[in-house]
Amino acid sequence: MATSPPPITADDATIRAALAGAAVGALLPALAQITGDLSVLRADLRPDPANVFDPDGGLTAEQLDDARAVAFDALVRFRDGGSVVAPHPREAELRQLLAFVVGDDNEAAYHDLLREELAIDGEDRRAPSWLKAEVAPDRPFSVGIIGAGMSGLLAAHRLTQAGIPFVVFEKNEDVGGTWFENTYPGCRVDVPNHLYSYSFAPRIWPQHFSAQAELLDYFRDFAAEHALADHIRFGTEVIDATWDEAAASWRVRVAPGRPDVDPAAAQPADEVVVVQALISATGQLNRPALPAIAGRDSFAGIAFHSAEWNHDVDLTGLRVAVIGTGASAAQFIPIVAGSAGELHVFQRTPNWLIPSPDYHEDIPTSLRWLLDHVPAYGQWYRLWLFWRMHEGLLPAAVVDPDWPAGESISALNEMVRLLLAEYLQTEFAGAPELLDQVMPHYPPIAKRIIRDNGVWARTLQQDHVHLRTETIDRITPNGIVTADGTIHEVDVIIYGTGFDASHFLTPMRIVGRDGVELHERWQGDARAYLGITVPSFPNLFCLYGPNTNIVINGSIIYFSECEVRYVVEALGLLLEGGHRALDCRREVHDAFNERVDVRNREMAWGAATVNSWYKNDVGRVAQNWPFSLLEYWQQTRRPDPDDFHLT
Ligand code: NAP
Repeated sequence: MATSPPPITADDATIRAALAGAAVGALLPALAQITGDLSVLRADLRPDPANVFDPDGGLTAEQLDDARAVAFDALVRFRDGGSVVAPHPREAELRQLLAFVVGDDNEAAYHDLLREELAIDGEDRRAPSWLKAEVAPDRPFSVGIIGAGMSGLLAAHRLTQAGIPFVVFEKNEDVGGTWFENTYPGCRVDVPNHLYSYSFAPRIWPQHFSAQAELLDYFRDFAAEHALADHIRFGTEVIDATWDEAAASWRVRVAPGRPDVDPAAAQPADEVVVVQALISATGQLNRPALPAIAGRDSFAGIAFHSAEWNHDVDLTGLRVAVIGTGASAAQFIPIVAGSAGELHVFQRTPNWLIPSPDYHEDIPTSLRWLLDHVPAYGQWYRLWLFWRMHEGLLPAAVVDPDWPAGESISALNEMVRLLLAEYLQTEFAGAPELLDQVMPHYPPIAKRIIRDNGVWARTLQQDHVHLRTETIDRITPNGIVTADGTIHEVDVIIYGTGFDASHFLTPMRIVGRDGVELHERWQGDARAYLGITVPSFPNLFCLYGPNTNIVINGSIIYFSECEVRYVVEALGLLLEGGHRALDCRREVHDAFNERVDVRNREMAWGAATVNSWYKNDVGRVAQNWPFSLLEYWQQTRRPDPDDFHLT
C-alpha cells in the first residue's frame, strides 16, 4: 500500500518532464493542497470533467502549457522550501479544492461523498461509527461472511474496525474471488486501476488497467495488512443457512472443498457454524455458465470455461474455437490468436468498443514520478478519475420516449452510437466484410461496452483467425456445426460464455423466517431492498446483490463500500438498540423494487431486446442499478430504522 513520499530532490528538468504527463484536474488541486497556495486554482485553467472523451477535459494546448507553468512554479517552490506540506486545508479551502474538480454546484451536492472518495491525508470516512465494546460490550455476537473476494474482505475489515468477531467462509484456497478465479490470459481490470481500489487503501499501480496478478496481489496484501486471513476458513463452501428464530441466529452448514453439490445431498454430519448475522459476499459473476448447445458433452477434444482456464493446455498450433465475445473473451482472444494454429471466434452479438489507447500501457514515467513524489497527487488523481467516471455516460443510457425506435434510444445515445460506429469503421476500414459482422445494431450501453486499443481489429484480421457469426447448431465430437451445415473441426473449445449472474446466492439454500427458502421466494427473480436485505430473512445481508451492478459508470468497489457501510451501520443499530433481529419491511422492499423496475425499463439495458446477462429468467433487469451513484450513496449512507421490523 502507498506510503508518504520522501522530500522532492529532483532537478527542474525532471519536474518539467513529469508535469508534461499530469492530469491538470488532479495536479492543480494537489499542489494547492500541499503548498496552501490556492491561487494556482485558476478558473481559466479548469478542465471540464464532463468532457468525457477528452482526457484533458477540453483544455487547449495553450491552457495546458499555462497550467503546467503554474504547476512548475508551485512545485519548485515546494521543493526548495524543503517539501514541507501545508497544514490540512480548512473546510472552506477544501471546498474550493473540490470545486475546482467538480464545479461549485456539484461540490455542494456531493461534498460529503467527495470527501469520502478523496480520503485526504489517508482518512477513512467510511469506517464504522461505533465500536462493539462501547455499544454492546457483553453481548455475544458474531458474523459470518460468505466469500473472501473484494467485498467480503472489505466487510471483514470493517467488522475488525468495529470489534465484531467474524468468520469468513471461502470456497477457494486463497482470497481475491473473481481475481483469484479468472486467470485467463489477458485478464485485466477495465476500470482505471487508480479508481478500482478501495478509497482508503490506495496503491500505485503499474498500469492504467493492471493485469489480474496485480489485482490479486492487491487483495492478498490488503488481507495480510489487516490480518484478515486468521478469520478466513479457506476451502470451505456454505451449503445452506437456516434462521433460528428462538436463538436469533443463523445456523450455517459448511462443507470442505468445493463441492458444487446438490445441497440436498449434503450429509447431516456437515459442520454447523452459528452466527448472529450473515453477509453474503458471493458476487454476481462467480458461477461460470456453459451454453445449452446440443452435443456439448460429446466433444472429444479439450474444453474449458474462461473462468476455469486450463493452463496445462499448450494451444500452440492447435485448432481452437472460442464461443462468446464478451468482456472476458475480448481479453483472451487476442492472446489465444497469438499461439493457436487456427482460431474460430463464434460471435452471437457484436460489441460496441470504446477507444482506450492506454488500455495495455504501463503508467508512464511522468505519471509514476508524480504518484511517487508529489504528496496528495494520487488522491486527487483518483478523485479526478472518480468524477469523470462517476456518472460517465449514464445520461446517454436513458430512453427518450419520443425518440424513434431503432438503433439508438435518444439524441445523446445516438451521438455516442455515431462516435463508436466511427471508431469501428476506422478500425475495420480495410476489411468491409468484417466491418459488417462486427457492427452492432443495438443501442450502445444496452450491453457492457468493451475497451479497445486496436487489438480487436488486428486480431480478427489475421489470416488464421475466422469470425463466425452463423448460429451454432450443435457440438460434435470433432467440433462445432453451424446452422448453415458447416462443420468447424477443432481440437479445443474455450467457453467465454459468461456467468450465471441472475441466480444470486446459488447453489446455497437460505431458509429464513417461517421456513421460507430464499430461492423459492424469488422464483428466479431475485430482489432485495437496496440490493442488501430481503423481508423474512433477518440479519441477512447481500453485497453486490440484486440491482447493484453498474454498466457504464463508476467502479463496483464504490458500490461495495456503500453496501458494507450500510450493513455495518445496520449491525450498529441492532446492537445499540439491544435488538435481536432486523428484518426489512415488505412495503419498503416492494416500493424500492417498483421504482427500480420502472427506471430500469427506461434504460438502454432494459428497453433493448439484445442478449445480455442483465436480465433474468423472467426478463426483469435484476442486476443493474439504474440511478446515479450519488443516489445509491444517499440511500445507503445510514440505515433508516423505520425501514425494518426490529425485534
Ligand atoms: P458475458 O459478457 O456474459 O459474455 C458471454 C459471451 O458468450 C457473449 O458474447 C454471449 O453472447 C456469448 N454466449 C453466451 N451463451 C452463448 C450461446 N449459447 N451461444 C453463443 N454465444 C453465447 O460474459 P463475460 O465476458 O465473462 O463478462 C461478464 C461480465 O464480467 C462483464 O460484463 C463485466 O461486467 C465482467 N468482466 C469484467 C472484466 C474486466 O473488468 N476486465 C473482464 C471480464 C468480465 P451474447 O452477447 O449474444 O449474449
